[in-house]
Amino acid sequence: MPELFRLFTLLRNRRLSGEQLETLQNSRLRSMIHHACTTVPYYRDLFASAGIAPGDINTTADLHLIPVTTKEDLRSAGLERILSSGTAPSSCLKIPTSGSTGKPFLTYLSRDDWQSRRLVEFRTLLAIGFRPRDRLAVLGPARRHERRLHQRLGLYDSINISPTLPPDEQLRLIRDFQPTILWVYPTVLKALLQRIDYRLSLFARPRILVSSAEAFDHAMAKHLRADLDLALFDFYGSNELGRIAAECPAHGGLHVNADHLVLECLDDGHAAAPGLPGSAVITTLNAFAMPYIRYHLGDVCTVLGTNCSCGCALPLIDHPRGRKTDVIRLPSGDTRSPWGVDYILREVEGLDQFRLIQEDLHHFRLLTVFRTPPRPIGISSIRSRLLEYLSEPVDLKVLVVDSIQQEHSKFRAFVSNISDSGNTNT
Ligand SMILES: [Zn+2]
Repeated sequence: MPELFRLFTLLRNRRLSGEQLETLQNSRLRSMIHHACTTVPYYRDLFASAGIAPGDINTTADLHLIPVTTKEDLRSAGLERILSSGTAPSSCLKIPTSGSTGKPFLTYLSRDDWQSRRLVEFRTLLAIGFRPRDRLAVLGPARRHERRLHQRLGLYDSINISPTLPPDEQLRLIRDFQPTILWVYPTVLKALLQRIDYRLSLFARPRILVSSAEAFDHAMAKHLRADLDLALFDFYGSNELGRIAAECPAHGGLHVNADHLVLECLDDGHAAAPGLPGSAVITTLNAFAMPYIRYHLGDVCTVLGTNCSCGCALPLIDHPRGRKTDVIRLPSGDTRSPWGVDYILREVEGLDQFRLIQEDLHHFRLLTVFRTPPRPIGISSIRSRLLEYLSEPVDLKVLVVDSIQQEHSKFRAFVSNISDSGNTNT
């Protein structure tokens, strides 16, 4: 489908009534279920084992009939069984993810899937006031960067700044680019702000700050607002699924991209009532190469069930909980975001799972689980890349283990044993 037409449709969807959106979502759901059950062996077998047929799923109210799928289910099924037949893996974009789970996994997107995802992202930015002359700097989220025609004309200009770069280099890039919109992982920004006494204005004067992956802590937001006149927006998404929801200028919650995916919030297997928290389960509507049907994401979300004063009928959720990340603390007093570690490790060949543990200011242990025994050179290269990222003389042991125990209800890729580990949420 031509790109401009797609964008036009997406923008129109923001103006549909609640009823029209529901009709659109259900129609896309039926197409996706049919596609998944006829072309993806994993879902064909899942439906058969649950004794249901694609025709049993007519609306989102029928989704409860389908068993929930976890990342572990997909990982153990293997690529051939979770990819749509007729999709050549080599023609796909591969999006790595591990996030807070520390379990690397690749999502395959066709060119078409990628276009949908990118346009939904663009719509989200337009909704918060992204204008043609704005300059967007993305600090943290792995946003695939393509210089498209409008950017070559100097419109909607953007850059990606990797959190694995030395902090001074990240600051230099921000100063040189002079972003009007800064999109960050809060712990990545925090590590920079601590070096410059929270005076971001000395480097750039963005008018909009977007956070994703983690919640902003209030102390940091307060510091930033004392320095700059900033509008803060919370985006919610995942590398597997794309943009799930985003705050609009009315700040009445986050609008779910209901034309792009179905978000269910489950409490004990049943839909949580509006206003009550539940565990996020997602069905993608525009990912055809590797569909996600009732995928257990696990974040705690709350459907608000209220209307937004901005007039958009895309349903609202509250700010997702449980996305707060500890920061890595270094002997000098500097900090680093665990996202830099994630970036380095999630593309290591054969790495099945990892956890970085900070014992104290000087001692770290990295636990790794490999599918096949790694070569010693692989381990020493991981170690040197992490030490380069931490860039201070700390002791880091890399251990290869058979398994890593899950703590509490959710696996954590970074654990700090320093008390009050960067928690400035006051
Ligand atoms: Zn709104």
